Amino acid sequence: MKNSKITLLMSSISIATTVLAGNPFFETYKTPHQTIPFNEIKTEHYFPAFQEGMKQHVVEVDTITNNLEIPTFENTIVALEKSGLLLDKVSLPFYNLLSSETNDELQAIAEKISPLATEHSNSIRLNEKLFERIKAVYLQREKLKLSAEQQMLLKNTYEEFANNGANLSKADKEIYRELSKDLNLLTLQYGQNVLKETNNYSLLITNKDLLSGLPADLLEMLAADAKKAGKTGWSLNLKATCYVPFLKYADNRDLRRELYMAYTTKCMAGGEFDNVENVRKIANARLKIANLLGYKSYADYELIDRMAENKDMVYDLLNKLLVAYKPAAEKEYADVQAYADKNGAYFKLQPWDWSYYSEKLKDEKYSVNDELLKPYFELEHVKKGVFGLATRLYGIKFTKNNKIPVYNPEVDAYDVTDEKGKFLAVLYTDFHPRDGKRAGAWMSDFKPQWLDGKTDSRPHITIVMNFTRPTASKPALLTFDEVKTFLHEFGHSLHGMLTKCTYHSLSGTAVYRDFVELPSQLMENWATQKEFLDGFAVHYKTGEKIPAELIQKIIDSENYNVAYFCLRQLSFGYLDMAWHTLEKPFTGDVIAYEKQAMASTQVLPVIPNTSMSPTFSHIFAGGYAAGYYSYKWAEVLDADAFSVFEKNGIFNPKTAASFRENVLEKGGTEHPMMLYKRFRGQEPTIDALLKRNGITQ
Ligand SMILES: [Zn+2]
Repeated sequence: MKNSKITLLMSSISIATTVLAGNPFFETYKTPHQTIPFNEIKTEHYFPAFQEGMKQHVVEVDTITNNLEIPTFENTIVALEKSGLLLDKVSLPFYNLLSSETNDELQAIAEKISPLATEHSNSIRLNEKLFERIKAVYLQREKLKLSAEQQMLLKNTYEEFANNGANLSKADKEIYRELSKDLNLLTLQYGQNVLKETNNYSLLITNKDLLSGLPADLLEMLAADAKKAGKTGWSLNLKATCYVPFLKYADNRDLRRELYMAYTTKCMAGGEFDNVENVRKIANARLKIANLLGYKSYADYELIDRMAENKDMVYDLLNKLLVAYKPAAEKEYADVQAYADKNGAYFKLQPWDWSYYSEKLKDEKYSVNDELLKPYFELEHVKKGVFGLATRLYGIKFTKNNKIPVYNPEVDAYDVTDEKGKFLAVLYTDFHPRDGKRAGAWMSDFKPQWLDGKTDSRPHITIVMNFTRPTASKPALLTFDEVKTFLHEFGHSLHGMLTKCTYHSLSGTAVYRDFVELPSQLMENWATQKEFLDGFAVHYKTGEKIPAELIQKIIDSENYNVAYFCLRQLSFGYLDMAWHTLEKPFTGDVIAYEKQAMASTQVLPVIPNTSMSPTFSHIFAGGYAAGYYSYKWAEVLDADAFSVFEKNGIFNPKTAASFRENVLEKGGTEHPMMLYKRFRGQEPTIDALLKRNGITQ
C-alpha cells in the first residue's frame, strides 16, 4: 500500500490553556533561523502538542470541506497542502529524536501516539467530502493552466486518495478495506515467521577444531551465545552476524553446507513458521487490490510513481544488465574455481563454498586493510574535504553557528550560505554512536523548504552517522566505507539544502523512490578520485598524501566479483517482478516458479528444495514490492550522471550548476525522467556503470 503523506491527527480533545502555556511548540521560535529550541523543549511538551496539532489539522480540513465555494486548486489542493503545520512542527523533531536521541519516555509517547496517528490519517484519507473536492479539481486539470509543479501536486494528492480506495463504490470500498486488513496481517505474520524461524535455529559445537578459520571475535560471540543458553561450546545460528562470516571463513566444508542448507530452507519445511502458503496469499491479495483499483498487476500499480514508469522499463534494465554481466560473472566463477583447485579443492564449487574461496582469493589479490587506510581519513580532514567539495561545485559555504540550539552537545549546527552569501539552510551534523541512537546513517529534515507567499522559507537538514569515536590518544579515524557513507548522506543533504520549490510536500528529497538515491550515490563517486582525495586525505601523523597505489587497490577491490554480485541483485529483482507482475491468481508451485524466474541469473549450481521466496522479507514484509530493481536502477543513474563530470572535469562548475538547477533544486516537482534528461541531454544508459565496474573499457 502507498504510504500516506498526510501525517497524523485525530480526536478533538480540548486542552486546558495551562498545558499550552510555556509549551515551545505553541510559540514562534526566537532562535536563529527559527531553529528548534531543543534547550526549551521538555518531554512533557510533545503529547499535548501532538493532540493540539491533530485538533487543528481536523479543523483545517473541515474548513476545506465546508467551503461553500466551488472547489479550486487554491481552496482545496493548496489548502490541504498547507494544513497540519503544527502537527509537522512537533512530528519532525519528535520522530528525528526517536532515531537519534531516544529514551524510554520518548518510546512510550511514540507508542501512545501511534494508534491515534493511524486513526487520524485514516479520518482524512477516508473523508469522502474531501475527496469529492479533490476529484472535482483533478477532473478539470486540463483547463486550469497549472504550472508543472502545481500539476504534480494535484496528481500526487489525487493519487494518494484514489490509490487508497477513495474512488471505489461503497461495496468495493468494503472489499478494499478487508483486503488491506488481510494483507497487513499476512505481511506481519510472514515477517514474524522469518524472525522466529531464524531465531529458533542453533547448532552447538563442542569441538573447537571444527571451527578453524573463524576470526577470534566471531568465536567469542558464538561462545557467549552458547553460554547465554546455559551451554558450553560455540553456538552457531542463522543471523547475519554469524551466517555471513561463517560461510566466509569456516574451513569445515560440512558445517558450511549444514548452515547453508538451514539458511536456504527456512520457512518452507512445513511446521508452524512455514511461509510458502503466505507467499501465495500475499501475491494474490496484492493482485486483487491492484485489480480493484484498476491495474492489471501489482507492479503496474506500484510503478505509477516511479522513474521506471512500467514493468517493461524494469525488465529492460534487468535484461540489459544480465546480458552485460553474465559472461564476466562466469569468468569470476571460473577464476575462483581455479584458485580453489590450486588450493586442494577437488570438487565443483557449490554455493556454500563460494564465499569461502572467493574471500581467500580477494585477500591474496587485493587485500586493502582498513587499518592501512584509516590514518588518511581523520574525521576533521574528511569534513573539510566533503564541505569543500560542495563549495567547489556549488559555491556554498558552511559556518558553524554555536547559537543554534542542539539536542546533544556532540551535534554541530552550521549556517549554510550560497555563492552570494545569502542564507540557504541550516545543517546539523551528528557523527558518533551513542546510547539512544539507532544504528546506520541517515539524512533527515527538521524543517522542509517551501515558499511562503513570496518568502522562501529555507530548510533545516540533519545528517546522522555512527562513526568510530576518537580516543584519548587518537582522533576519529574513518574507514573507507565510512568516508563513502559521509559522502552519501551529505549528497542527500545537498538535495535537501539546495531545493527551491513552492510546496513542502514536493521539496528536497520528496521525490519518486527510485530517484532519491541519485544525489547521494553520485557523491560517492568522488571517494575514489585522486584529485579530490589529494585535497584532504593526508596521514594524520605525518601529513603524507594518500598513495596512488592505495587508491587503485580500493578501486580494484570494490570491483572484485562485481559481476557475480550484480547477477545476485538481478536474481532478486527478477523474483520480485515475477511475484508482482502476475495477472492471474497464483495456484502453482512456489519453489518451481521461483527457480524459473531466477534461472537466467544463476552462475553457481542451483540446489534443489531451497528457496528464497519464503524469507524474502524486503518484498513480502517490507516496502520493496515491485521495487527491488531500484538498487540497480540507482547505480545505473549515478554512474551515468558522474560520467558527465568525468568528461567535463570532476570539479567543473558548469556541470555542477546544471545538476543543481535541473535536479537538486527541483525536488519532486516534475517527473524525474524529465529532470534527468534536462541535465544529461538523454535518458540514462548502463554504459558508464559497465565502465566503472571494469566490465568494459
Ligand atoms: Zn541513501
